[in-house]
Amino acid sequence: MTMAENRIFYGFFAFIFGTCIGSFLNVCIYRIPENRSIISPGSSCPDCHGSIPFYLNIPILSYVCLWGRCKFCNHSISIRYPFVEALTGAFAVLLFFKFALTFALIYWFFFICVLIIISFIDIDHQIIPDCISIPGIFAFTSSFYFLPEMTVMQSFMGILSGGGILYAVAAFYYLVKKQEGMGGGDIKLLAMIGAATGIKGVFFTVFAGSLLGTVAGISTMFYMRISDTKFRIPFGPFLSIGAILYIFFGDGLIQWYFGTISR
Ligand SMILES: [Zn+2]
Repeated sequence: MTMAENRIFYGFFAFIFGTCIGSFLNVCIYRIPENRSIISPGSSCPDCHGSIPFYLNIPILSYVCLWGRCKFCNHSISIRYPFVEALTGAFAVLLFFKFALTFALIYWFFFICVLIIISFIDIDHQIIPDCISIPGIFAFTSSFYFLPEMTVMQSFMGILSGGGILYAVAAFYYLVKKQEGMGGGDIKLLAMIGAATGIKGVFFTVFAGSLLGTVAGISTMFYMRISDTKFRIPFGPFLSIGAILYIFFGDGLIQWYFGTISR
């Protein structure tokens, strides 16, 4: 095989692998907020609870073959399931193309999987479970082992700045408005992102996440004509998108930004 054919072959393999992991992420997203085991029992229909045999549990394909319906009760199954599978597969491919077969690939894939779980739980329940973010802070401090540019000190500073920035914002908001605006979950999430990306990553993530969150918030308000100021869109997904943008484009964008303003 030529080099290009090789890349396509491994890229395809990465996608299949990613969708299988994505299938497991769906289980985590669905069960962790309910405090249920993510190991057993196996997958079942959310409606009739009929257990899904392994040959009907193939990522994306099963959904397409069954036209998005449960084989037993014909209840429609959320498009979210194949979407999360495809999303995880896509990130596996993109990471493989950026990092090839390195320790960085393993680290960032695991990191993005955790961000996907956190984001969808935040969308569904407006919470970020401590049982993911707190162990995450410790686990991702291992970045010095997987990433050539990271040190323990940088992780430590990332955790402090990540936790600190949002804590300061939350405390200020509370002083001014006398109500909670920023969830404690967001604070721990950004501390976790800091463990993986260091101070530079934290600032990039807050900047990109706030920008995207503001744009999305304003357009949702216009589109849905919501004037209620208590209307809240979860911040977790935007912080996650910010962190993922940093993994792929962070250094390039930071250089471009400072290159533009110093000219
Ligand atoms: Zn069913």
